[in-house]
Amino acid sequence: MQISVIGGGPIGLIARTALEQEGHEVRQFDPSTEKPKMSLALAESTLALLNRIGVQLDAGEDLTEILVNEHGLPGSMLLRASECGYPRFGRVICSLALEEALTQHTSDRIERLSVSQVRARSAQHNPSIELSSGEMIHPDLVILADGGRSGLTESLGLTAQRRPFDRSAIMGRIQVDTPQAGRAYERFIGTGPLAILPIESSTYGFVWSLDPAYAERLSQMPETLLSALQQAVPAELGGIEFASDPVVIPLVERWVDQPYRPGVVLIGNGAQTIHPVAGQGLNLALRGVNLLVDALRSQDPDEAVKTAFSQWRMNRDATRLASSSLEALFDRELFPRKLLTSLGMAFGDQSLWLKRKIAEAGMGVIS
Ligand SMILES: Cc1cc2nc3c(=O)[nH]c(=O)nc-3n(C[C@H](O)[C@H](O)[C@H](O)COP(=O)(O)OP(=O)(O)OC[C@H]3O[C@@H](n4cnc5c(N)ncnc54)[C@H](O)[C@@H]3O)c2cc1C
Repeated sequence: MQISVIGGGPIGLIARTALEQEGHEVRQFDPSTEKPKMSLALAESTLALLNRIGVQLDAGEDLTEILVNEHGLPGSMLLRASECGYPRFGRVICSLALEEALTQHTSDRIERLSVSQVRARSAQHNPSIELSSGEMIHPDLVILADGGRSGLTESLGLTAQRRPFDRSAIMGRIQVDTPQAGRAYERFIGTGPLAILPIESSTYGFVWSLDPAYAERLSQMPETLLSALQQAVPAELGGIEFASDPVVIPLVERWVDQPYRPGVVLIGNGAQTIHPVAGQGLNLALRGVNLLVDALRSQDPDEAVKTAFSQWRMNRDATRLASSSLEALFDRELFPRKLLTSLGMAFGDQSLWLKRKIAEAGMGVIS
C-alpha cells in the first residue's frame, strides 16, 4: 500500500517505521528540523511496539519505582515494579535520543517539505495531498501526524474540541547530587503536579504544571526557579543544579471525536492532546497506531482505520479523562484536599492490588 505520513514528530516517525516494516511504501513530509528536547516516559506497551519493529533503545533509564506524594505531608504511595510482578514500568528517554534511534530504521530521510492541502478519498479518486513544492500525491492512505497545529484538520471539515487548563508546563533538566537509580517522582506541591524523571545517571527531567503567568515569571528568573525546585524535589536527591534551560509550554486538552475521513486518518497530538501529568500522550497514541498497523494487514485502508479506532476509542477517552481528572484533583492548594489525598495515598500504599492496577494502567497493560 502507498501511504503518505504528514509530520515527522515522534508519532509520525514511529508510525512510518512500523508501516515500512510491514512492507508498505511510505513517503513522509515535515519541513521542520528543530525538534523539542523533552523527557519522555515510555510505557511497556510503547517499548513492546518499538521492540517489535526492531528499534533498540540504549539511551535513557529503566523506570523501576514511582514515588507519589503530597509535598510536606506524610502519606505517600511507592509503586515498585518488582512488587507488581514486572522487571520495570517503562523507560525514560530524551525525545532526541528516541528520534535518533528511529531514523536509523527508516529507508529514506524525511522529505523537508510542508503539506499545504489534504483531500479525502472521493468516489473516483484516492485521497490527495499537495506539497509546498507544488507536487500532488495520490496515496492509498494519508496519515496526518502534524501535531494539530497546521490547520489541515480543519480543512478536512473536522472540528477539534478544546479545553484550556489555564496551566502551563515548565520543563527542563536538573543534575542531582544523590541520584536514586530507576526512581521517578510525582509530587503534588500545591501549585500543580511536578514530575521528576530519571534520564541517566545523575540527570533528571522535570515537568511542572502551574499557573501560566507564574511559569513565565519563573522561566525568566532561573535562580528563583532553581530555589523553588530545590524546595519541591525530594530531599533524598540532595542538591540540584540546572542541566538545561527551562522551557514553558501552554497546556490544552484537544481532541477530535472521530479523527478520520475516507482515506485520511489523524494520529498523535493532532487527534488528541492530553494533560502531561501522567506521561501518557505518546503512549496512548502509539497504542492506536499499533492497532492501525495490525488492521491494515487484512483490511482496506478505510475499514482498517474504522476497526482500529473502534478498538482504541475507549482507551483514548479513559486516558484523557484520567489525565485531566488528576490535574483537577491535585492542582489546588487547599489543605483539606491535600490532607484527604495524602491519607488516600497512605491507605492506597497498603494495597498491592490497587498499586498493580495503577501501574498497569500507566504501562498500557490490560489485566
Ligand atoms: C510537558 C510534556 C511532557 C510530556 N511527557 C510525556 C511522557 O512522559 N510520555 C508520553 O507518552 N507523552 C508525553 N507527552 C506527550 C508527547 O510529547 C506527545 O504526545 C508527542 O510529542 C506528540 O507527538 P506528535 O508526533 O503527535 O506531534 P509533534 O511532536 O507536534 O509533531 C508534529 C510534526 O508535524 C510537523 N508538521 C506540522 N504541520 C505540517 C505540515 N503542514 N506539513 C508537514 N509537516 C507538518 C511539525 O513540524 C512537527 O514536527 C508530553 C507532553 C508534554 C507537553
